[in-house]
Amino acid sequence: MTDVKKMYINGEWVAAESGNTLDVTSPATGEVVGTIAFGGQKEAQMAIDAADEAFASWSALTARERAKYLSKLSGLLAKNRDELAGIIAAELGKPIRESVGEVLGAVDNFTWYAEEAKRVYGETVPSTFANKRLHVMKQPVGVVGAITPWNFPINMAARKIAPALAAGCTVVLKPAEITPLTAVKLFELIEQAGFPKGVVNLVLGDAPQIGEEFTSNKKVSKITFTGSTRVGKLLMRQAADQMKRVSFELGGHAPFIVFADADIDKAVKGLFDSKYRNTGQMCICTNRLFVHESIADEFAEKLAKRIERSGVGDGRDANVEIGPLVNQAALDKVLDHIEDAKGKGAEVLVGGSQLTEGDYAKGFFCEPTVLKGVTSEMKIVTEETFGPVVPIITFNDDEEVIKAANDSDYGLAAYMFSNDINKCLTVPERLEYGIVGVNDGSPAQTQAPFGGFKESGLGREGGKWGIEGFLETKFVSYGI
Ligand code: ADP
Repeated sequence: MTDVKKMYINGEWVAAESGNTLDVTSPATGEVVGTIAFGGQKEAQMAIDAADEAFASWSALTARERAKYLSKLSGLLAKNRDELAGIIAAELGKPIRESVGEVLGAVDNFTWYAEEAKRVYGETVPSTFANKRLHVMKQPVGVVGAITPWNFPINMAARKIAPALAAGCTVVLKPAEITPLTAVKLFELIEQAGFPKGVVNLVLGDAPQIGEEFTSNKKVSKITFTGSTRVGKLLMRQAADQMKRVSFELGGHAPFIVFADADIDKAVKGLFDSKYRNTGQMCICTNRLFVHESIADEFAEKLAKRIERSGVGDGRDANVEIGPLVNQAALDKVLDHIEDAKGKGAEVLVGGSQLTEGDYAKGFFCEPTVLKGVTSEMKIVTEETFGPVVPIITFNDDEEVIKAANDSDYGLAAYMFSNDINKCLTVPERLEYGIVGVNDGSPAQTQAPFGGFKESGLGREGGKWGIEGFLETKFVSYGI
């Protein structure tokens, strides 16, 4: 009998009422790495009922009491680091070193918000009238429906669950169906940490059904979602009917600008970090690389050298730096962007093809690729590629490149490399992006705000900003 991983609702492990299950496969080998219960609307409703029931007592705990549970969970995550990283590598193909890093990110989030819970301060405001006192306080919004993507199976869940629980909210999580096994392990640890029943719940299954229940059920006050802009917009429309609170971390199309005065070696390293981590499957990944024409050849040559020595393979192999794409659709999209660019005159400097020989035949592997001679008519410049392909666009005018960098409906992350202090100070101010890495290819940290301008989202995760989305502001006026 297969071990079917169940949902966690009201402190119990629950199978789908329909009896449905779903196999989870490795994108590197195609083998089945686990099987989950596949629920839907019914289970989402049960989980929401449980979270609603638990809300009164959870939110009534002191922040210090809630913090104890979060700290305990953080410790359990740290203790189970290698097992969790192994699950991420198996179901997503993410290189093991990165998988370990991701688990540590989740540990850090629970530690951080255990502390941040204690700093949800109110304010007093001077009144116009001598006989009044004005107080402002923060209160938890209520039951939170959280939906997470597959590219960071544990840290995306942590970035939502940790601040929500710290604020006093209760949570129902729906992870991506491609990477649910990590979430199941997280909930095993949640159970071990001894959270009161109903405070944190896990539903697995039909995404549209669960999303519909989250957005239409009056007991849910807040939707927090990380994923595609398409689904974000859909959820926002659905949530509008009841004016539910929403936070969204959506797609990106990051520009990466290398000015003529940049340290080229540092920029190559930064580009590698921002582009090839998680096989290019991050919303803050570089999508458009703008290099000043005076240094473009040297930059391209050094980048090509760096890429040629990166190992591609199953993330579970410790020597692998770049894993597979997550599925066939992801691979097809990347190959289509490469073919489209080639057809329109781009030159392939490194890579450019699917890897199909030997063990590669079993998975969704694409060579890390660099394209030269890229122009704005190519799909790779306008659409989110989500894969290990860098298009090099050259420029010779700093004003023009800032304009080109901002020419996107997205506004999540941008990067710039320069040794000119004035440029480093003023260009970020003009980039229409929520996150800017200046001589830094991996800017995200637990304590800093993460989120986007424009169609990249709404609200911020991380640091003191990350808890705000789970709090309402209440004003109390006292006549005395
Ligand atoms: P991606 O293209 O990166 O897979 P998605 O936006 O499709 O991004 O998926 C992100 C998360 O949103 C996943 O958990 C997925 O199951 C969920 N999702 C997809 N469609 C819907 C929907 N209609 N309603 C609610 N959640 C959805």
